[in-house]
Amino acid sequence: MARMAKIAAVSAGMVLVLTGCSSGDDQPSANNSLGTITAGSLTVCSDPPFAPFEFEDASSPSGYSGFDIDVSDAIATKLGLKLVVVDTDFDALQSGASLDAGVCDMGASGITITEDRKSSIDFSAPYYDSLQSLLVAKASGITSLDDLAGKNIGVQTGSTGEHYANENKPDSATVVSFPSDGEMWVAIQAGQVDALLEDFPINHNHAKADPLYTVVGKYQTNEQYGLTFAKGKNPTLVAAVDAQLETMRSDGTYDKIYDKYFS
Ligand code: GLN
Repeated sequence: MARMAKIAAVSAGMVLVLTGCSSGDDQPSANNSLGTITAGSLTVCSDPPFAPFEFEDASSPSGYSGFDIDVSDAIATKLGLKLVVVDTDFDALQSGASLDAGVCDMGASGITITEDRKSSIDFSAPYYDSLQSLLVAKASGITSLDDLAGKNIGVQTGSTGEHYANENKPDSATVVSFPSDGEMWVAIQAGQVDALLEDFPINHNHAKADPLYTVVGKYQTNEQYGLTFAKGKNPTLVAAVDAQLETMRSDGTYDKIYDKYFS
């Protein structure tokens, strides 16, 4: 979705929920002790589709499902809050702009923790290990980045994949940037680009869904995803989310969600 449309959708969708009920944890939400932008809610920015981490799901109360969404929902529930998901442009999310603008309390969008981003964003503890990869049409005969000389490589604007492509592509290859994986997938199917360079779980998911496509390269970039927060704005919320991530790892909630999407 275009950035302006997304942000407009936020204000329209905001509803005050002051039920005062909590999940039984010791952090009641009625007095908004966590200082969320809407009392009673944890408003989360994400850029679907980025399956299996975030995708539309009409059967889910938030309208979305996926690993990030379910993890966020579990955190919200444990904090006595209701999860609200806002579809947000990835580039504005990874730069910290959406968080600084108060569009949401937290970002959950397969966002890699990088030193660069740490200067404009607060991160939770890492919650998922990831890597880069190259997806091509089987019929293309392309088997590596080197085979892309003179060809087009599709990436997501502002992503670590875009960075990796620019650093490692053959000189004569062209990097073509798209707002999100949704447009990238359409572009390779339309023959507008010859390959997609992005996080492995997403390319793997495409190859699983469509046997005409295959992952021909995996690049061990040692990335870890973190949940994101406006820099320096709400350390109480960051600490509360980190504490819940830890609880989720010890009480089996994390493994349950992980198995649902990756087993
Ligand atoms: N993990 C990559 C990054 O942080 C891509 C994330 C995404 O496209 N949602 O840049």
